[in-house]
Amino acid sequence: MQFSLISDTFEKMEATTKRLELTQHLVDLFKATPRESISKIVYLIQGKLRPDFEGIELGVAEKLAIRAIAKSSGSSVKKIQDIFVEDGDLGHAASKALEQKTQTTFIKQQITAERVYDTLLKIAKLEGARSQDMKMKYISSLLNDATPQEAKFILKIAMGTLRLGIADNTVMDALAIAYTGSRTNREKLEAAYNVSSDLGRVAEIVAEKNLDGLKEFHVSLFSPIRPMLAERVKSAKEAEEKLGKEFAAEYKLDGERVQIHLGGDKVVLFSRRLENITSHYPDIVENITKALKTEEIILEAEAVAINENTGEFLPFQELMHRRRKYNIDRIVSQYPITVNLFDIMYLNGKDLLNSTYEERRKKLEDITVENEFVKLVPKIIVRSENEVEDFLENGINAGCEGLMLKVLDAPYRAGARGSNWLKLKREYRNELGDSLDLVVIGAFFGKGRRTGRYGTLLLSTYNQEKDTFESICKVGTGFTDENLDQFYQILSSKVTLKKNPRIESGMEPDVWFEPELVIEIVASEITLSPVHTCAKDSVRKGSGLALRFPKFTGKIRDEKAPEDASTDQEVVTLYKNQKKVTQDVSEV
Ligand code: ATP
Repeated sequence: MQFSLISDTFEKMEATTKRLELTQHLVDLFKATPRESISKIVYLIQGKLRPDFEGIELGVAEKLAIRAIAKSSGSSVKKIQDIFVEDGDLGHAASKALEQKTQTTFIKQQITAERVYDTLLKIAKLEGARSQDMKMKYISSLLNDATPQEAKFILKIAMGTLRLGIADNTVMDALAIAYTGSRTNREKLEAAYNVSSDLGRVAEIVAEKNLDGLKEFHVSLFSPIRPMLAERVKSAKEAEEKLGKEFAAEYKLDGERVQIHLGGDKVVLFSRRLENITSHYPDIVENITKALKTEEIILEAEAVAINENTGEFLPFQELMHRRRKYNIDRIVSQYPITVNLFDIMYLNGKDLLNSTYEERRKKLEDITVENEFVKLVPKIIVRSENEVEDFLENGINAGCEGLMLKVLDAPYRAGARGSNWLKLKREYRNELGDSLDLVVIGAFFGKGRRTGRYGTLLLSTYNQEKDTFESICKVGTGFTDENLDQFYQILSSKVTLKKNPRIESGMEPDVWFEPELVIEIVASEITLSPVHTCAKDSVRKGSGLALRFPKFTGKIRDEKAPEDASTDQEVVTLYKNQKKVTQDVSEV
C-alpha cells in the first residue's frame, strides 16, 4: 500500500475538527487498506507501533531527526534548526527542507506504508553503541524516497507528534463502518478492545472475519484488560443518593494499581496504563502464588509501600523508587510493599467480567490465603451515610486516601469510568471535592533558594474534544527541595524550543515543555480568569477557569498519561458545584 494514501488522509484530517469528517476519512482509508496491513495502519494512526503492553517505544530524539533531515535534503543542520525554531514542528521542517531541496535525485522507489512501519519498528528495537547512527541512516533512507508531504508525516509519527485529534473511539467507529457496514457495531469492537488492549489485533480480526471474528476475543492470560474506573463523589450523602440502600465500601489505598496475571509458573504485571511492569516488582512475582489457591488467575491489586516496623502504609511517592532497571533487589528490600487484592477478572479458564461485584469478591476471598505480604482490601457492606462516614474515618486513620464505594450487583465494566464505582476522598471534601491531576506545560525559573531550578510550574487540564491542554494555574507551593531537584531532572528533558501546538495558554512561561508530566494539585477554589484558557467561554464568554491557591500535594502521577489528566469538563462541574454550595450557604 502506498504511503501517500496515508499521508493524504492525515493531511485532510489535520484540516478538520469535525468528528464525522474525521471518521469518514478513516473509513475511506481503511477501505483502501489491504487486510494484511490493517493492524500496522491502526497502530500508526494511534501514534504507536505495537500495543502499549509490549513496551515498544519509538525513541527518535529531536537532534537525530534534524541530522537525518539535513542529510536527506542536502541542507545544513543549522538551517533545519532555524526552520524548526520558526515553525515548532519537525514534520513541517522536513517537508519544507525537502521542498527546497536543491540537489536532484534520480527517480526513487515509491514509499510503501509497510516499509515506513517496518523501518520504524527496526529503529525502535535498536540498542547499543552504534544505534544512534543506524537510526539516523534508517530515517534518512525513508526521507530520501519521500515526497515533502510524506516526509512530514513520517517525521511526525517517528517523533510521536502526530496529532490527528481523534481518540480510540473514533478509530473504532470507522472500523465498524468500514468492515461491518454500521457504526452501531462499535460496541462489539470496543468489547474486544477492552479485553485485549490491542486495537491493531481487533482491526485485523474484524477485517478478516467480520463480526463473527470478534467472538474470538476473550479475557485471556497475559493480555491486559483495560481497567474499570471510578467517578468521584464529594460526600457520603451523594454516594448514598447514587448507589441506593446497600453497597460495598472498600478502603482506597494510596499505591500503584497492578493487574496480576498468573498462569502456571509465569507471573506478568501490568500498570494502570497497561504497561508491563513485572520487573518493578520481583517480590510480587516471587511471593504471589503462596497466597493463592489456584493456578490461572487475573487479579487487581493496589501495591502499597509500607513501614516494615510498624506496618503503616506509606505515601505513593515511595513506590517511585521501584521504577528502575538496575539494582532492583536492593530497592525491594529498602522499600517493602504489601499487595492488597480488590478484584478478580479471570479464574481457571473462566471470564468473570460479567459476574457481579459480590460474586467476584466472594471468589477472591475463597481463593486467597492472606499472609504478611498479600492481603484482601478491607471491605464492608454499608447501609447508611453514617456507616460510610465511620468506615471512612477508620480508613483515614489506617493511612488510606478515602473509600471506594461499589454497586453490589454490577459487572466489571472494563475500560469504562462509570457510577458503579465511586471514590470518596476526605481531605478535600469541603473544598473542591477532590484533588486535580494536571499536566505541566511550562515553567518560570526560580529565584533565591530556587535559582537554577524551576520555581513555578504552569499547569493545564486536558480537553478531550479538542485534544488540547488548556492552562489553569501557576503553582509554586507545596514543593520540598527534593521535589525541586526531581522536577528539574524530569522536566529539563521535556523542554521544547517552541510551544507544542496542543497547548493553549494565554501566559508565556520562561520554558515550554512537551505536555507529558502529570502532577496532583489541591486548591481552595475555582475562579473565573481572564488569562487562563481552561474551559474558556463555557461559563462566561471571554473567561476561562483558574485555581485559587493551588498547592502541589507531593504526588507525581507517573502512572497517568497526559490524556488521563483532569479535564476542562470536570473543572466546570466542580466550579458549578462550588457555586451551588456558596449559594446554598448564602440562602440560609
Ligand atoms: P485516582 O487519581 O483517584 O487514583 P484514577 O483515575 O487512577 O484515580 P479511579 O478509578 O478514578 O482511578 O480511582 C480508583 C483508583 O484507586 C484505582 O486506579 C486504584 O489504583 C486505586 N484503588 C485503591 N484502592 C482501591 C480499591 N479498593 N478498589 C479500586 N481501586 C482502588
